[in-house]
Amino acid sequence: MAARPVPYLEGLNPEQRQAVETLDGPVLMLAGAGTGKTKALTTRIVHLLNTGRARPNEVLAVTFTNKAAREMKTRVGTLLGQSIEGMPWLGTFHSICVKLLRRHAELIGVAGTNLTLKSNFTILDTDDQLRLLKQLVQAAGIDDKRWPARQLAGVIDNWKNRAWMPDKVPAAEASAYNGKGVALYKQYQRRLIELNAVDFGDLLLHVVTIFQTHDDILQQYQRWFRYILVDEYQDTNVAQYLWLRLLAGGHKNICCVGDDDQSIYGWRGAEVGNILRFETDFPGAHVVRLEQNYRSTPHILAAASGVIAGNQGRLGKELWTEVEEGERVRLIGHWDGEEEARWIGEEIEAMQRGTRGMRAFGLDDMAILVRASHQMRAFEDRFLTIGLPYRVIGGPRFYERMEIRDAMAYFRCVTSPSDDLAFERIVNTPKRGLGDKAQQKMQVTARQNGVPLIEGARILLEEGGITGKGARELQLLLDGLTRWGRMNGDKAVSHVELAEIILDESGYTEMWQNDKTPEAPGRLENLKELVKALENFENLTGFLEHVSLIMDNESDDAGAKVSIMTLHAAKGLEFPAVFLPGWEDGLFPSQRSMDESGLKGVEEERRLAYVGITRAEEVCTISFAGNRRVFGQWQSSLPSRFIDELPEAHVEVLTPPGLYGGGYGAAAGVQNSIDARVAEANVYNSPGWKRMQARAGQRPTAQPREATSPVIDMAAASSHTVGERVFHQKFGYGEIVALEGDKLEIAFEKAGTKKVVARYVTSPDD
Ligand code: ATP
Ligand code: MG
Repeated sequence: MAARPVPYLEGLNPEQRQAVETLDGPVLMLAGAGTGKTKALTTRIVHLLNTGRARPNEVLAVTFTNKAAREMKTRVGTLLGQSIEGMPWLGTFHSICVKLLRRHAELIGVAGTNLTLKSNFTILDTDDQLRLLKQLVQAAGIDDKRWPARQLAGVIDNWKNRAWMPDKVPAAEASAYNGKGVALYKQYQRRLIELNAVDFGDLLLHVVTIFQTHDDILQQYQRWFRYILVDEYQDTNVAQYLWLRLLAGGHKNICCVGDDDQSIYGWRGAEVGNILRFETDFPGAHVVRLEQNYRSTPHILAAASGVIAGNQGRLGKELWTEVEEGERVRLIGHWDGEEEARWIGEEIEAMQRGTRGMRAFGLDDMAILVRASHQMRAFEDRFLTIGLPYRVIGGPRFYERMEIRDAMAYFRCVTSPSDDLAFERIVNTPKRGLGDKAQQKMQVTARQNGVPLIEGARILLEEGGITGKGARELQLLLDGLTRWGRMNGDKAVSHVELAEIILDESGYTEMWQNDKTPEAPGRLENLKELVKALENFENLTGFLEHVSLIMDNESDDAGAKVSIMTLHAAKGLEFPAVFLPGWEDGLFPSQRSMDESGLKGVEEERRLAYVGITRAEEVCTISFAGNRRVFGQWQSSLPSRFIDELPEAHVEVLTPPGLYGGGYGAAAGVQNSIDARVAEANVYNSPGWKRMQARAGQRPTAQPREATSPVIDMAAASSHTVGERVFHQKFGYGEIVALEGDKLEIAFEKAGTKKVVARYVTSPDD
């Protein structure tokens, strides 16, 4: 061993060092959240490079998101003390497979024909995929109302996650999609290759197929990737697992890290079994366990451990921390979802000012993690209203907006003229007088001549199959596409200028300029943003590839912002303060998981709860709402079963201002609604609610069903005594010195003696 000190190794604990320094042979790091798995993995890369074991392009490192890949690249650079240009094989499964597949695309063909994929294939997004499947379903004469194409898409994705190509789908699946699933899957795969396209699942599966059928190529890559590292191994699916096993098959220098308690992609085919099977697959594997958590306070860790303990069949891991005690996990119930958003907005501002008896937090320090992306809207709306800067990570993104997808379809037509789906999307957008009939004719002509749709349109035009305005406009479009294609090829103008030219000359920008709907200005802004985004790329193709691959939001990162994202997108991340809203049965755990027979679904949701809580370093705030508007209907809900599983000693119950008729003065409007009142009765009578009240040191509230005005009843229910220690939202802790009707005189510890309305005051939890 070299005696000279290696700075990047110094901060690691002995187990982490082992994982970093055991360079040869299989290593499995199996440990709980925040124990420094990703840190050790990153340091291992640094160590490989620093000791000269591998050059940057000989390390294959797989992360779960592009964001994680970027972060890892930066950290490797920092630890190494130099910027690393080339780590071309550090990325997600998908981004790595795109590169591999482009090199060998022609090896993927349709049996019995000379049809193959070409290296400039396009990557379909879910929308394109669905459109294609719809066509196939209709062509097969299937009633897609009874058998939606979306369902077929799900079935096929599922098979691809299991690495089943059409000929490998087991007989037990024969009844899928009304017995026609396998046949349509086969047609779909053929059609994709005709279109020179792949879907997300194909990226992996085609590469696996190539490795399985071309031993020379596999061996070449086995030699090339001398070291393989995988983060979040618990969430790999069968196809990814096969891919890894093939690549590591030679030298077996593979290091996987993961946590069985954080396996949250079972619904997408991930197999937590992969991690448990590692030692069998790689005999003699070095297994490293980490137990010290460096991220969260003891209260947060204990709360997370308490929840996850409800799952069966865990490996079970003890976590400990040296971090000081800190805040208990905070729990608060709200009247409805809007109030929850309002409260969180104000709480964030208060925490920013440091008026919560805690340190002041920056906006970047805080994150809201939701179970379902539709929960985001309430927060986005609220934050826009109060001018609180936020960013949405993952979820419905910029690149999924209609105008952006249209614009990109134009770009796709220019870069790959055989992209039929893109051409379909834009041929009559803006309106060119080319209705369904004309488009059908193009389709038929293209199919009869065995050419791409765009060529079909050209032939049709020459044959006079389209006349009048439609013909003139189509001619203009086709001429435009030829011209733009040439400009793209000879690089006479930059791709950024070209993008503007395309959007202008095609009439697309003009279409939105003439549009009088309120959304139009925003759409034009977005188009401008799109052109701006292009500047970061060398050419249109590079940009399109990037967009089809991003899984996380790339929008401008300037300035401090609160992050909003789904729990799934939060995996591997950490924030000083985390808000976990919407902990209600039916939302979290999701209704679907609760409807499932057996425990599997709810157990996966519980792991998601564990992931959520363990993202927090210092403050974790869990909330639920008694009422939520779902598709315009008010629905009442019960606090999540996971709330009951939080160990009491580590939880502090905060008082919801709205429920006591105070705080925001908004409850009255809602309470006028009869529906809401019914809902209220349900919530206040629910065992979960009563338990919460009891925990807060209050007696269970009066039954609102008998009360004419539940709000006032609630206030009266919280009776106080002189000498009692209480908490007030604005003034903090204090002691009651006198009672005066509905007012209290309180000597506050910080704010002096004040008279306040009783309903704004709560008993602090002790
Ligand atoms: P998760 O399961 O959530 O992905 P993880 O095990 O990957 O968590 P990391 O993100 O690597 O954990 O580390 C959690 C935090 O602890 C990070 O802020 C990291 O910098 C810090 N950390 C890890 N190891 C050490 C160490 N030895 N000394 C000090 N801090 C550490
Ligand atoms: Mg990690």
